[in-house]
Amino acid sequence: MAPSGSRSIKRGCQRVLYWIPVLFIALIVAWSYYAYVLQLCIGKKSAVWILRGGGVIYLLVYHVVFIMFVWAYWQTIFTKPMNPLKEFHLSYSDKELLEREDRGESQQEILRRIAKDLPIYTRTNSGAIRFCDRCQLLKPDRCHHCSVCDKCILKMDHHCPWVNNCVGFSNYKFFMLFLAYSLLYCLFITATDLKYFIKFWLNGLPDTQAKFHILFLFFSASMFSVSLASLFIYHCWLVCKNRSTLEAVRAPVFRHGTDKNGFSLGFSKNFRQVFGDEVKYWPVPLFSRESVLLESEIDFVISKVSTHMYEYQFKLKVLFFYRT
Ligand SMILES: [Zn+2]
Ligand SMILES: [Zn+2]
Repeated sequence: MAPSGSRSIKRGCQRVLYWIPVLFIALIVAWSYYAYVLQLCIGKKSAVWILRGGGVIYLLVYHVVFIMFVWAYWQTIFTKPMNPLKEFHLSYSDKELLEREDRGESQQEILRRIAKDLPIYTRTNSGAIRFCDRCQLLKPDRCHHCSVCDKCILKMDHHCPWVNNCVGFSNYKFFMLFLAYSLLYCLFITATDLKYFIKFWLNGLPDTQAKFHILFLFFSASMFSVSLASLFIYHCWLVCKNRSTLEAVRAPVFRHGTDKNGFSLGFSKNFRQVFGDEVKYWPVPLFSRESVLLESEIDFVISKVSTHMYEYQFKLKVLFFYRT
């Protein structure tokens, strides 16, 4: 085994490397701003179109979309993923008990006893209690261990290298808005650049540096539009179905068996579970789930288990609400 010193150096290097994709995106966005605003619109030598054509409105729309896109991206990157409450962690005595048992069945017996008092309805494929060895906790429903973050993440969707963060309960809304605004950003550039892109090929543009920015802007924006559109449509489908990417790959297993629609509450509630109740906050990258957190989870619990568990879940969720 490597000494802990070299392990922490390796981990430190990995942490730096993980920021490379984010840096790459940041550089592309910074260049696109420079190319669109400074080269195409207000550059002294290369004001080839927008301002001459009186299209100041383009610049205004561009800046609104740009700000929303950067804000949503920032929120997705820097919102900490949420980890399970301490109620799901093993107590010191339970840890000792578990360590003493070497048979899987006896260990499961202990875990089942602890899980009895917790609102946990999902199981492993073999019907066992979902337990994280690494974090020493009983995994709440929809929680998964992320090997990159080395933590259990609530309602984990996936670990995204482009934001160097886990996408899950705390930032899924921001991730959706990031996809939506980045798609809008790319489509806006593609649409407004198209006319000048055609002119480029017909040699109808003045011979300035800006013409190459027009060319590369169009190529990069249209290419990103295609990949972002497919990802965005896929995630819209997931939101409608109330599934995470992980659950879409492998359906969750409940006490009563596998159920790919196990978390679905119908389109409206599924949507509100991610975006919140208040319509005015839907397009804004701010956390707005508190009000639906209780209602939707309770609906789910009522449909799946007894009233006793409903009360317990309610208590835990209130606790959860106050901690966020
Ligand atoms: Zn874990
Ligand atoms: Zn992660």
